[in-house]
Amino acid sequence: MQSFRSVRSLLVLIQTVVCAALISGTASRVAAQAVTSETVIQKATEQFESSPLKTTSLDKGIWMFSGDGGNVTAIVAEGSTLLIDSGVDSRVSELNTAIFKATWRPVTRLVNTHGHFDHIGGNVYFGSAGVTIIAQENVKKWLSSVQNVPFVGFRDGRYPIQALPTVTYSNSMTLRQEDQKLTLVNYGPAHTDGDTIVYISPANVAVVGDIFSNHFYPIIDLSSGGSIDGMIHSLDQILAQTDEQTKIVPGHGPVATRSDLQNYRDMLAQLRQRIKVLVAAGKTIDEAVAAVPTKDFDAEWGQGYVSPDVFVRMVFTSLSEGTNR
Ligand SMILES: [Zn+2]
Repeated sequence: MQSFRSVRSLLVLIQTVVCAALISGTASRVAAQAVTSETVIQKATEQFESSPLKTTSLDKGIWMFSGDGGNVTAIVAEGSTLLIDSGVDSRVSELNTAIFKATWRPVTRLVNTHGHFDHIGGNVYFGSAGVTIIAQENVKKWLSSVQNVPFVGFRDGRYPIQALPTVTYSNSMTLRQEDQKLTLVNYGPAHTDGDTIVYISPANVAVVGDIFSNHFYPIIDLSSGGSIDGMIHSLDQILAQTDEQTKIVPGHGPVATRSDLQNYRDMLAQLRQRIKVLVAAGKTIDEAVAAVPTKDFDAEWGQGYVSPDVFVRMVFTSLSEGTNR
């Protein structure tokens, strides 16, 4: 399977291809995007490899582990731990140690919020140990094939069979972990076409994956069926299902409240509207970037690994190329 290090070597490969395209005079917008976007995966990789692994208690028997890729949530029952996401592969044994230290129970089930490497990197490790992997059905499709995300200069997969979900669902599914009921829901394509939101009750925790990046511009994986309209649609559904007391676990960043999620949704909706105006006015993608429609949001949201210009390119393409699936 692809590791972060192999992602780096793939980046070199992508760079070589892009340079070749530029030299041969066939530089396309896609090539330009790949050049711009390389730093996204580089920044993310550096962050995931160097951040300390932090354990946060969310409720009795529920923890969040952060730092090793996407946030990981653990819910305990009498004799087992259920995980939501599995971080990056290079840090899975460190993650497993931290999980056991907190829960003192073996992991028996693993839910993936979607199929990106920083959320499923531990799947081989846990799948090889006999853990049942559960995901929306499209995750299985993506992990079984090569994934290519040109906006962030990323290629990944195909994953070995042990990493693949063995239990899948289409629209929703319910699991029980002792006293906690877990409702898994897919509201249609958003960040990818295989997103799962997990509502945990009565704890009142919502694990929303990369539909929410706290506190920075998100990746919208158009090549895996994601779209800006789908992101906003899913966020509206999540807002309708949560209250002011809900603890919201984002794909990345600290635990948030419903009002944090509302601010993020409103930011996305405003930027979508501004970029839509640029698309309707016949601007090119470069002209849209040059117009800096994100300007007044950048201080708050532009400090993560998705730079404002990459974000504008993703939204522009989502709105202009009929990728709103
Ligand atoms: Zn993701």
